[in-house]
Amino acid sequence: MSTDEARQSALEHYRQGLQVTPEQLAQIRDAFVREVQAGLRRDGHSSLLMLPTMVDILPDGHETGEFYAINFGGTNLRVLFTKLAKDKKQVELVEECTAEIPLEYRRCHVDQLMDYVAGQLIAWADHHGGGLHRHERPVIGFCFSFPVEQTAIDAGKLIHWTKGFENEGAIGQNAAQLLADAFKRQGLSVHIAAMVNDTVATLAGIRYGDGIDANVAVIMGTGTNACYLEQLSHIEKWLPGFRPRTSDMVVNTELPGFTAPELPLLDVDEELDAESNHPGQQTFEKLTAGLYMGEITRRILLRLVAEDGLFGGQAPDAMKVAYAFTTMHVSLIYHDESAELDEIGRILQEVLQLPADQTRTEDRKQVQEVCGLVAQRSARLMATAVTGLLRQLGRDGSSRPAQRNVVAVDGGVFAHFPAYTALLHEGIRDILGEEAAGLCSLKAVEGGASFGAACVAAAANNYMKAVGNYKPPSRNTSSHHVLSPRRPNTLEL
Ligand code: ADP
Ligand code: MG
Repeated sequence: MSTDEARQSALEHYRQGLQVTPEQLAQIRDAFVREVQAGLRRDGHSSLLMLPTMVDILPDGHETGEFYAINFGGTNLRVLFTKLAKDKKQVELVEECTAEIPLEYRRCHVDQLMDYVAGQLIAWADHHGGGLHRHERPVIGFCFSFPVEQTAIDAGKLIHWTKGFENEGAIGQNAAQLLADAFKRQGLSVHIAAMVNDTVATLAGIRYGDGIDANVAVIMGTGTNACYLEQLSHIEKWLPGFRPRTSDMVVNTELPGFTAPELPLLDVDEELDAESNHPGQQTFEKLTAGLYMGEITRRILLRLVAEDGLFGGQAPDAMKVAYAFTTMHVSLIYHDESAELDEIGRILQEVLQLPADQTRTEDRKQVQEVCGLVAQRSARLMATAVTGLLRQLGRDGSSRPAQRNVVAVDGGVFAHFPAYTALLHEGIRDILGEEAAGLCSLKAVEGGASFGAACVAAAANNYMKAVGNYKPPSRNTSSHHVLSPRRPNTLEL
């Protein structure tokens, strides 16, 4: 077989395998809905954990007061201060990504980790928001994006660590209490009014601005997840000690675990899974998330080198390093519109150590095509989850007239990979059809999950204030620092 014929055959294999047809999308969506419904049942076996979050009160945009948030969910630690005013134009918002969490804090005792987390907010708040000490009891929304068995809106036990954290003393403990204790050790009494994961926080942030049309949130960052607002009457699972205040509750699907025979797994997916830390687990995440898109691409490119003679049939050593090629590279390559694909040449040189003058335009084109196919498959699979949740809510236009839906989005992939959002919307259109998809918008909220966590804290706090069981959080606002007057504009993507 000539090189050209062989090239056609390997690339063609992935061209076909990575395309998810509208018929397949509908089948996967149906499988997803079955897993959602099984996961809500008391003894239902489902690949989706469908964790009740105990978040039964979401912001409606009328919250007022001063709130902080800590967003701790993987790579970075973020802190935020917001002052919610009756007039939304007056809402102030200051967020900062304090740092990538140093590696040593992933292995130390959890108390040391929480001392670090609390310490970051304390130090930062001295410069933004006037310092925590000026509040009698500062109100904090804690965005903690790890699997938690939630026992109340402000309490939940860590089930297990993920994302490389291994801190001793945390499993089975109430993470909100561990954080509050860390503040106490530093002489501060704080009120952690809500502990939520990033998905729930993102939904809350959009609800604050968009109200009742926002019922679903998806995260696409290092990992992936989705949550939605379910009717309590549909949640058959036992909710220990829970006293309903409304008729709904946010459910965290734990989307990464979704698996079904309908998922279009390829040889490279099976290899990636077999060589991962937890083979056989997190199937959906391995097909979609930011952590994996680059690695899937690298594995396909290696196949193209071996079988199609890509890069002259020689894979440089740098290309054999697992996870060397990242989703950021996929995105940069996808967006290169230059005639000679110069940016792709630069990335191949920088990351794979392929001298730019030795990569042919034809090779660069193939790399770009593979990046596009991998991203497109991820986005279309995410569309099955989004539309599956809209189906579960009866809001996908199939059982009654299509209505407006706002889907909240957050995460590094949405933030830095502009075409990804368009690919996701295309997938939604292939499943729902023009009309219902036209009424469905994907929105990011400024301040993201951090702002959302502050909003849930605000909603919970304001609710408690309204029912009387409340201690005022703030006694002195006169030393207020000047803040950048940004408002949490929702962005139409
Ligand atoms: P986390 O998931 O740790 O909370 P983020 O939401 O910020 O963090 O997402 C980080 C992820 O976003 C990275 O792991 C990567 O997959 C993806 N990412 C970062 N930069 C880019 C980029 N330029 N293009 C596409 N994806 C990116
Ligand atoms: Mg995150």
